[in-house]
Amino acid sequence: MSLPLIYTHVMGSHGFPGWFWTALDKVKAGEYGATDEREMFDDATQLAIRDQERAGIDVICDGEMRRFFFVQTFYARMEGLEHLEPLRKTGLYAYDSVPRYRATTRVTVPKGLGTVDEFRYLKTQTDKPVKATVPGPITLSIHIQTRPGDGVYNNDRLALCWDMVPAVNAELKALAAAGADWIQVDEPSAAIVPGQLDEYVKMFNACVEGVSAKIGYHVCFGNLLSRPRGKRSYRWLFPKLLECRCHQFVFEYANREMAEIEMWREVGVDRDVACGVVDVKSFYMETPEDVAERLRRCLEFIPADRLSAIPDCGFFPVPRWVAAEKLKRLVAGATRVRAELTGKR
Ligand SMILES: [Zn+2]
Repeated sequence: MSLPLIYTHVMGSHGFPGWFWTALDKVKAGEYGATDEREMFDDATQLAIRDQERAGIDVICDGEMRRFFFVQTFYARMEGLEHLEPLRKTGLYAYDSVPRYRATTRVTVPKGLGTVDEFRYLKTQTDKPVKATVPGPITLSIHIQTRPGDGVYNNDRLALCWDMVPAVNAELKALAAAGADWIQVDEPSAAIVPGQLDEYVKMFNACVEGVSAKIGYHVCFGNLLSRPRGKRSYRWLFPKLLECRCHQFVFEYANREMAEIEMWREVGVDRDVACGVVDVKSFYMETPEDVAERLRRCLEFIPADRLSAIPDCGFFPVPRWVAAEKLKRLVAGATRVRAELTGKR
């Protein structure tokens, strides 16, 4: 795949169009048939793809229109779970409002997570290079309760995460077999539960074992309705994270005003680094020059042929118009810096 210098891509999810939220209510109320539903998801996916293409994004994702709140749809595909009531149902929706589950048997995902069908549809809708996205085992486990004396995992979250690994590995292999040559594993939670880093790295490497595709690894600090959850630092993850068998790290920088970007000088850049240079948690519309400035800062520490430009995280928590506008500015900023590097304007 031939991509320009400082190419642009997206994290995965796109802002839902207004009509799509209304349609989701209709589905929930049982007012849509199977064909209505398929058309609705296909149409929303096409809009997400068109928004990226219109903005001039170089590598396209399907917008994750078939997923809800990033991971919530995956639980319906798992076996061995019992649904629990959310801990808090009133007031603002946040990390303590999400649906929860308890494992009644060891959790399996016999029919896969469904990302292969998403990818196949994406391929029919664009001629541009594409990227598939799959949540990692830690992220997939976060809504499942592991408390002392509660469920088969008792208090052992790592055992639960390890049970997700075969499913993620099978998913990645199935994606590669379906033609995905670039897959991003999303693990916002790796930075959220400190203390188990060695195990996380082992788990990541087990997930990508035997997968023939370019592997991106997105680690962020949480983005539920634009709120972070973890301590917003990558520093403690290094140098251990370098043992992850990925070809690209995908990190958020814009909402932290580029904090820790200088870390790459100490760590050493031994693979591609995609830097978040558009803040998905703010309505502030970056100007192309804002984006260009952030990219120039990245270039002080990351060689141009290793660097790519991306929004900090997924666009699910922002309205579609904000997502579409920010994508245009991402491309305009990257184009500006590319021109400076190549001397072409
Ligand atoms: Zn993220």
